[in-house]
Amino acid sequence: MNPVRPTKTENIRETLEAHGLKVTPQRSVVLGYLMSTDRHPNAEEVFQAVSLHLAGAISKATVYNTLNTLVAAGAIVEVSAEPGVTRYDANIESHHHFIDRETGRIYDIPWESVEPLCQTLGTDFSIQDYHVTFYGKALKHEHSPP
Ligand SMILES: [Zn+2]
Repeated sequence: MNPVRPTKTENIRETLEAHGLKVTPQRSVVLGYLMSTDRHPNAEEVFQAVSLHLAGAISKATVYNTLNTLVAAGAIVEVSAEPGVTRYDANIESHHHFIDRETGRIYDIPWESVEPLCQTLGTDFSIQDYHVTFYGKALKHEHSPP
């Protein structure tokens, strides 16, 4: 259900350019990491992964700033699944999430898997977007840390 997304250098470059961003090594490595994983890492986890990749040649502040830049440009999205923790997702298509309460791991749930909810609010609100977060236990996935 959650295949690792293919990440090619040209995909990273295209995504940055499609969102009006200049291609820099920092943006490429941060976006490339997020495109390669479906784990919805937080900023600290992104920092650790790219730091390893660049042999420590990137600061935490740079990673955090780069994440903010990518979010502002719409190249990635923030996922707020737990209070106080912002996670990042390179899957910018509309989709829902399932959070495993034991492991904390977040799974992508395809948009089509959830019945449309737009009718339920009646005419008092005009809905532009929505996002459903399910909580429970993932039954058919490997037991790996979030
Ligand atoms: Zn997601």
